[in-house]
This record gives sequence, C-alpha cells and structure tokens, in this order.
Amino acid sequence: MSYIHDTITGLMASSPAQTEFYQAVEEVLESLEPLLEQSPHYRDSRIIERMVEPERQIMFRIPWVDDQGQVQVNKGYRIEFSSALGPYKGGLRFHPSVNAGIIKFLGFEQIFKNALTGLPIGGGKGGANFDPKGRSDQEIMRFCQSFMNELYRHIGPNTDVPAGDIGVGAREIGYMFGQYKRLTGRYEGVLTGKGLLWGGSLVRKEATGYGCVYFASNMLKAHGDSLEGKTCLVSGAGNVAIYTIEKLYQLGARPVTCTDSSGTLYDSRGIDLETLKLLKEHKRVSLREYLNEFPHAEFIPVGEYPEDGHAVWRFQADAAFPCATQNELTVADARALLANGCRCVSEGANMPSTPEAVEVFIAERIHYGPGKAANAGGVATSQLEMSQNASMQRWTFEQVDQQLQAIMADIYTRCSETAKEFDQPHNLVLGANIAGFRRVADAMLEQGVV
Ligand code: NAP
Repeated sequence: MSYIHDTITGLMASSPAQTEFYQAVEEVLESLEPLLEQSPHYRDSRIIERMVEPERQIMFRIPWVDDQGQVQVNKGYRIEFSSALGPYKGGLRFHPSVNAGIIKFLGFEQIFKNALTGLPIGGGKGGANFDPKGRSDQEIMRFCQSFMNELYRHIGPNTDVPAGDIGVGAREIGYMFGQYKRLTGRYEGVLTGKGLLWGGSLVRKEATGYGCVYFASNMLKAHGDSLEGKTCLVSGAGNVAIYTIEKLYQLGARPVTCTDSSGTLYDSRGIDLETLKLLKEHKRVSLREYLNEFPHAEFIPVGEYPEDGHAVWRFQADAAFPCATQNELTVADARALLANGCRCVSEGANMPSTPEAVEVFIAERIHYGPGKAANAGGVATSQLEMSQNASMQRWTFEQVDQQLQAIMADIYTRCSETAKEFDQPHNLVLGANIAGFRRVADAMLEQGVV
C-alpha cells in the first residue's frame, strides 16, 4: 500500500491537478499488488515509475477563424505514453472538458487496453478542449486543419496512429487526413476510422460497441447464460452507444435507454435504432426529439433527476452498458442497479464507473467487464485497419467481424485466466490490469532502460 501511496504522492507533486489520472493509476497499482509480491523484479527495475511517466507529451496552440470572422484559440494535446509494444495508438477527443489530466488518464488506460488485445500497438491519446456542438461544418473543418497543422509532425504510420473518440468521428478524421496529406504529400495509414472510400476498414465504426457486447456475451457464456431476452440499460448516444444497441438487438436483447448531454431517454418497448441514428448521426440534435416520433417514451432532462446519481441506472434491467464518459456511474447508481436485478455490466466508455462503484460490483461478484477490456474492440479493429492499409488489402465485413469476435473472446480469456491465477476468479479488473501490465512490462525489460 505504501508503494502505491508513494507513487501517487510523487505524481501529485510532479503532475498537479490531474485527478482522473491519479484515479486510473491507483486502480491499476492496487490490482498489481499480488503480482509485485510474487515478482519483485518489476519493482527492482522501476517499471512502474517508468510506466506512469509518458514517453512524450505534446501541447500546442490551435488558432482558427469562426464563421463570424473571429479568431478562436484552443489547446491541443498528444500524449505518447508507451511504445513498448508498437507505435503509439489511441484516439483524439474534442470536448470542452479536455485537459492534460483527462488525456493522461485516457493514455494510461490505453497502454493496458492495447496490450490486452495481443496486437503490436503501444499506447497514446490526444485531443483538444474544443466544443464541436453548434459549430458549422466549415468551422469543424478549419479547426481540424489547424489541429493537424501541428500534429502532423509527430505522427506517422509507424510512429503514432491516432483515431476517434468523443467528438471525433468519420467527418473529423476525414478533415484531418486531408490536411495531413496536403502537408506531407503522403497518402498513408496515419489515422484510423477513415472513410470506407479512402482506406477505412469495414466494422471500425461498429467495433467498440459490438466488441463491448461480445465481451458481455463471453462473460455470460462462461457461466452458462446469454444476452437473449435480457433487458439492457445503455448510456451515451454516440458512436459506442449506438453500435452497442445495434448488437444487443442482433443478439436478442432489448435496450431500453440511452443518454446524451441533455438527458436520459427511456423507451420500455426498446429504443428505436433507426430514429436514434437519424437524431444523433445525421441531425446531431438532442435525444428529446425522439418523443416527437414516440410520445410514449420518457425523457428525463439533466438536472431534473432528484436523487444522488443518474437517472439512466434506475430502471429495472438485467445488464448495463455505460457508453458515454468517465465517472458517469456512481456508487449510488451501482447499488440501484443491483437492487433492480442487474447482474452484468460491460463498459463501452473509458473508466465510466467510479472506484467506489467498481468495489460494489466486485464485492457482489456480478459479471463486471472493465472498460480497458470490454471496449478494446475499437482499437483492435483500428489495428486491423492498419494491417489492411499496410498490405493494400480490403477485407469483407464478415472477415473483420470474425476477427473482432475472436479478439474479444481472447481478451476475456486472458482476463479471466489471470484472475484465476491470482485466486480472484470473479475479479476481471485484477485480471485485465495484471495481464496487460505483464505484457508491457516484459517487453520493457527486454528492451533495456530506454
Ligand atoms: P461520441 O460519439 O462523441 O458520443 C459520446 C456520447 O456521450 C454523446 O451522446 C454525448 O452526448 C455523451 N457525452 C459525452 N460527454 C458527456 C458528458 N460529460 N456528460 C454527458 N454526456 C456526455 O463518443 P464515443 O466515441 O461514443 O465515446 C464514448 C465513450 O467511449 C468515451 O468514454 C470514449 O473514450 C470511449 N471509447 C470510444 C471508442 C471509440 O472507438 N469511439 C473506443 C474505446 C472507448 P451529446 O450527444 O449530447 O454530445
């Protein structure tokens, strides 16, 4: 414990005010305790001290001109955390809440997530404190171009390959790729999540959501159960949430909720997927508009929920899929989920459950899939996109989906076998953290002190 305490205290001094980063580090270090006792050479080689410090952090100015002719300035980040297993890989987030601590927590999680896939990818993350809401297409394009005007000199198909995250989808990747090509004169696989006409992979768009549901299926299957006929709660209404909902329907489940920054939508008959896609992928409007089409549904605006926690986790359900953002599921929410019969939680988002909520899930021994394992399908399929780009091939939807299913099954097996090895078979947090850590740490040891 004192080792963890000392590490966090050191981080607080060297990297002040990065709360989410400390939270992510603490969770990983707590899980590693039994491994460090068994294998002291990791401590002797100061692997943890090396791992919590990014190899490189880039921060930069993003000046751009809005539709009124006014100059706007945002702050951009790319954190290249670990290249022990391959080129830095991880998404870009455009959201007003982005700061160095958020990007660092995401980058740190990414190291272990990428290691868990078994693929040759290191960990990185980036983004900007830019709010795309209400911005025109032209403004988004000018912002993405200015972002790439700095980022291009740090990335490359064999060095650092960014993808999307909150606020960054196919449109933004397109504008950034166009600018990269213009600046460098090279047409190469420097970004993933590209359009299907120009180097993108089938299934990449669906991969994080589909993978998160495959992970839940694997957890249930190992205990003789399945998702068929189950009522499910989903949060978020973006890329991950939409394709979680799509796959849940395909596997015979009934997703009854989704959320966005304006509130929670509940449709007891099941969320209408086509309407959801129309509202969020095409029109980019509030979920409240769903009621125009389906007046029987219920919408609870943010701020109007009287209890501690979040409205979305208070409905009767068998399984929950948090797919919006960090710390969106509190301990009060966790207790409400359990009281309402939920026995399975698979995290599409990164670190959506608070540490206290995770403790409740583990203590109650429900099927709990932590984000770094359950949402790794996105980055895994990004790596499949890199493979197709490098070999100039194009695989079918079925070929990529089969590989995604196999990768998610492998990740589940890795987490579960490692949890069993350390006598905590129900604890996939411990399994994921140790399995991911061991792969990166062993590579670092073999590569010397660099
Ligand atoms: P997205 O398409 O931008 O959607 C995010 C959704 O969450 C939107 O519905 C948004 O509401 C809502 N949201 C975001 N921040 C919020 C906040 N602070 N409060 C309330 N609602 C909020 O992003 P995404 O790609 O689906 O990412 C969702 C989560 O999955 C993130 O944690 C991300 O790191 C993680 N993840 C994504 C991928 C990937 O491949 N995209 C891979 C692994 C993990 P509005 O619609 O109102 O904006």
